[in-house]
Amino acid sequence: MKLDPELRLQILEKSGIYSNRFSISEPTLLLTTKEVLDAPKEMTEGRRTSAYKYYGVSYLQHNLVFINVRKIPDEKTLANTIVHELIHMRFPYLSHGKRFNKLVRQGLRGKSFLPYRKRSETLVI
Ligand SMILES: [Zn+2]
Repeated sequence: MKLDPELRLQILEKSGIYSNRFSISEPTLLLTTKEVLDAPKEMTEGRRTSAYKYYGVSYLQHNLVFINVRKIPDEKTLANTIVHELIHMRFPYLSHGKRFNKLVRQGLRGKSFLPYRKRSETLVI
C-alpha cells in the first residue's frame, strides 16, 4: 500500500483503538524501512536491516512496532498486521501458534483484554 498522510493517520488511529482495547500503552509506530533504519540501533537490534522482509515487527523491549505498509497488499492485511503486532505487545510470553492466532482473530472482532500483569507485580495480601 502507498503510505500517504491519510493512511498514516488511519494507522495511528487503529493502533490507538486496539491499544485501548488490549490495555497496552500505545507503541511508537515505524511505518517505513527508512524509519526503522533511522531509529536508534539499540531499539531495533536483531531486526533492523531484515525488517523489510516482514509485514510487521514488534520490538517488545522498546514498545516499538514496525508496520511495513509498502509490502502490505490491502486493507485487510493491514488490519491483521496491526492487530498481530499489538497482540505480541499484550501477550509478550506467547509465541506464534494456534492460541496466538485465536487471540488475533478475537482482537480483530473487537474483543477487549485486561491489562497484562507479570507475576512479580502480583500483590499478595
Ligand atoms: Zn508475530
